[in-house]
Amino acid sequence: MDVLFVNARVCTPFELRDAAVLVRDGVIEGVFDHIEPPEGARVIDAAGKLLAPGFIDLHVHGGGGRSVMEGTPEAVVAMANAHAMHGTTAILPTTLSMPLADMARAGEAVGRAMEDGTCLSTILGVHQEGPCLSPAQGGAQAPDALLVPSQADLTALIEDCPHLKMMGVAPELEGALALGRRLFERGVVASVAHSDADYDTVSRAALFGFSDVTHLYSGCSSVVRRNAFRVAGVVEAGLEMECLTAQVIADGCHLPLPLLRLIYRCKGPEKMYAVTDGLEFAAARQEEGVVYMQRNGQACVYEDGVMKLPSREAFAGSVATMSRLVRTLKKAGIPLCDALRMATDTPARRVGAATKGRVAAGYDADLVLLDDGLRVNLVMAKGRIIREAPEE
Ligand SMILES: [Zn+2]
Repeated sequence: MDVLFVNARVCTPFELRDAAVLVRDGVIEGVFDHIEPPEGARVIDAAGKLLAPGFIDLHVHGGGGRSVMEGTPEAVVAMANAHAMHGTTAILPTTLSMPLADMARAGEAVGRAMEDGTCLSTILGVHQEGPCLSPAQGGAQAPDALLVPSQADLTALIEDCPHLKMMGVAPELEGALALGRRLFERGVVASVAHSDADYDTVSRAALFGFSDVTHLYSGCSSVVRRNAFRVAGVVEAGLEMECLTAQVIADGCHLPLPLLRLIYRCKGPEKMYAVTDGLEFAAARQEEGVVYMQRNGQACVYEDGVMKLPSREAFAGSVATMSRLVRTLKKAGIPLCDALRMATDTPARRVGAATKGRVAAGYDADLVLLDDGLRVNLVMAKGRIIREAPEE
């Protein structure tokens, strides 16, 4: 059945225009100033609300109480569906650093979930966050699971995993540059992640295929002084190097609003994109002050709208949905179109999802209807309406 959205304020996300959008067979047929409803079409009056592309989350470990690390297709579908209810219509399920066999099983489960077709949203592939990360910037990653590239056999995660789209690697580790090149040759995004590297190391890594920074500022080295001289770190490389894109956890906790503005000024909307880094506790209810156990055995406590390590010295990941990130970016003063672009088009381009992230003819009919407060009122995924009630 055709679906026609009328009286919509469409964010393409490159411009805002009052228009009608026709959806046919799961694809956007066109964006029109005026159009007569085709016979038999369902007409939805958007009443001036914002119609935007569905959100795309490239860094998310779980949601709705389920985790990628359960290693089953059912868990992957359940977490994707939990986020889909909040407008995330395409997702890159992300592992945690755990024993290699567990990471490989999770990657395989994502692949099977992609094939079985029961997911409401689109699963874009798999993102392996690790296991080659720096213990010095490990954060909530399990320290025992961290490996050095030159000593690890990563075949099960890379060559044996046709759906691998992104891998987080600390480029200062021995063998990391060769790993970056190996990923690049397979079309996999090599992301500087949980890294204690200095600027020069990141700059060198960029010559070996690294092209992204995982959650900028979190698990990233920054300026240090070596014998009176200041040395820049991963944060500064991420901000300054034009060949790197940057993930931001814009949940309003991981990064204060001035830092969001700083990153935006340095990177612009085409090189900065929003990720939830959501744990299984995302897109679900949490109780303030309660300690939860993650799949990797790390305890974390829910407080102030975010998961913290029990020491409260660091965050353990977010409970956010993409809709909350867009609201935070807007609150930081970033123009609406750019805020939405960083949650839709930019992540789509980053992983080569050619038909995702825009409201334009020929693109997949992944759409969200947002009210004035940027709360999700309706979600359409692959042409199917899966939510028709406002978010709380
Ligand atoms: Zn993560």
